[in-house]
Amino acid sequence: MISLNSIIKMYNEKKILNNINLEIEDNQFISIKGPSGVGKSTLLNILAGLEKSDSGKYIFCNTPMHELNSDKLSEIRGSQMGYISQYNPMIRKCTVRENILVPLFLEKYDEKQINSYIDELSMYLKIEHLLDKKIEKLSGGERQRVGIIRALIKKPKLLIADEPTGSLDEDTTILVFNLFKRLCENQMTIIMATHSHLSSQYADKEFILDSKGLTYNF
Ligand code: ADP
Repeated sequence: MISLNSIIKMYNEKKILNNINLEIEDNQFISIKGPSGVGKSTLLNILAGLEKSDSGKYIFCNTPMHELNSDKLSEIRGSQMGYISQYNPMIRKCTVRENILVPLFLEKYDEKQINSYIDELSMYLKIEHLLDKKIEKLSGGERQRVGIIRALIKKPKLLIADEPTGSLDEDTTILVFNLFKRLCENQMTIIMATHSHLSSQYADKEFILDSKGLTYNF
């Protein structure tokens, strides 16, 4: 599904990513670990097509992403990817359900089916009682779970998750990792940056990113 070849990314003449190579097959749950500031978010942003590398090749589902302009990249991201950011930008004055539906704005969808998927996911992540509440009333951990459901609502082929459990307690983190594992058994591929020690029990493969580069851990 994904192939990164000799990816280099610079910020202000500083090499953040130096010669990253990575191959990811379909239906895998991938965890990327490493110290803060080493470039995990930068790598995920390149995978999501939010940023471009300075050199190297990025192939996503046979498409050479490194050759595309930002309009084409956002089209691919919108149709095939879900993205969970560390910051969970949301519309504060709208309800949880309205925020989850944002990626479907401008699309035709089966309302009954989508709402029952929202109910199912929010029940699983224990936020079903918040669906009609305004975002501004939620805690950080509750918002994080809304961000996860919003990223899943279009059943993307690829889910990119940047520290998706950073604000969650251990029990809820386990719920999220179990959900991700189940989704990967059902046609999704997930690439997640995390500091959680629990992820190793759930991911199919783990990579470590540090100043030497990206290395395979298991
Ligand atoms: P991590 O996710 O591993 O904590 P990041 O990818 O967020 O690391 O950041 C890697 C390095 O790149 C950091 O030193 C950060 O300050 C720098 N960086 C990230 N984004 C930018 C940017 N847009 N402009 C300049 N420097 C950046």
